Amino acid sequence: MTTSGRPDAASPGAFRTRAVHAGREDLVDLGVHAVPIDLSTTYPSRDSRGEAERLDVLGTGAAVPGAPVYARIGNPTVARFEAALADLEGCAAGVAFASGMAALTACLLTAVAEGRPHVVAVRPLYGTSDHLLGSALLGTRVTWAAPHDVAAAIRPDTGLVVVETPANPTLAESGLDALARACGDVPLLADNTFATPVLQRPAEHGARLVLHSATKFLGGHGDVLAGVVACDEEYARRLRQVRFATGATLHPLSGYLLLRGLATLPLRIAAASATAAELADRLAGHPGVTRVHYPGRAAGRPSGQMTGGGAVLSFETAGDPHGLIGAVRLITPAVSLGSVDTLIQHPASLSHHIVDPADRAAGGIGDGLLRMSVGLEDVEDLWADLDGALRAAG
Ligand SMILES: *Cc1c(COP(=O)(O)O)cnc(C)c1O
Repeated sequence: MTTSGRPDAASPGAFRTRAVHAGREDLVDLGVHAVPIDLSTTYPSRDSRGEAERLDVLGTGAAVPGAPVYARIGNPTVARFEAALADLEGCAAGVAFASGMAALTACLLTAVAEGRPHVVAVRPLYGTSDHLLGSALLGTRVTWAAPHDVAAAIRPDTGLVVVETPANPTLAESGLDALARACGDVPLLADNTFATPVLQRPAEHGARLVLHSATKFLGGHGDVLAGVVACDEEYARRLRQVRFATGATLHPLSGYLLLRGLATLPLRIAAASATAAELADRLAGHPGVTRVHYPGRAAGRPSGQMTGGGAVLSFETAGDPHGLIGAVRLITPAVSLGSVDTLIQHPASLSHHIVDPADRAAGGIGDGLLRMSVGLEDVEDLWADLDGALRAAG
């Protein structure tokens, strides 16, 4: 969103500028340089009549200036991160949660609360997202559909359409413009965890809700568990009401770390994407690798949606995937992604273990598939480690 006085979102230079300055505009006037961390759980006031009035407004989910009354309603440090992420995604508002799954839960509960508990979802999704929908734990009912079947799957009680693009862990891409058209009035939720707003801004393609596991690239250092939804102010109010009542709030220290992470996000994504693209090319020519998945390499990909391939790739090995995981020395053998160090994991054993094997197979997640999140190390060091591990795995 280019409001007056802000640099233009269309320019990459301006995006970098906003990544550094968004959420920090008032610091000079406050006379501080680092963002203040507000750890208060309650906010004293001698005016309880006034507080009652503020609570009435806050109860509608509206963002009210001034102290938040109680920490489950809001937090000034977290609000800085929310505003900054919303700015980078080109949305009016951001609502932060204790994890990516808490963010998805809040979106699903808004659909249930509106009496539209049917969800249409495109596979593959992150394993626990797939599980949350498939288990009907929150009272939603899911219809799994390929992107071109989404319009036909929508019913009068459909409250949400859910897609990840690129998807975890196959990097499958879905065209958001076409999906948004297929959705009509039903909100389209795009999980933008893999691309980040540096490479793709789903709201510009009609997604009403842009979800992140902020645990990944936004935090960027493997030390924050968080989720966030960027959306319009009307939907943000519904999400704040759910967050207030269910309590999956983000800790202020996490809000601080996430805001700090955003400042380097464009540089981290650019550097890691360049290395990932190079590794994808080299892996494609390796005798131990049967297939490489990397955004932009498949035919028929949606055009004009992503401005780069990103920092995550996956590949299928002819040898033993467990042997490869055991053999890496520089690369960190761990689930999760988006950190400064390179992480590799076996989705069938970890990130997507909770998904039924048949559903995994239907989503293109084979037992030989490995997912790698590329960090900021030197490309030659990473290649030497990968090549050695591939040889060791046979
Ligand atoms: C990790 C992940 C999630 C879940 O986020 P948490 O922060 O672990 O709760 C959701 N979507 C995608 C694409 C993910 O990679």
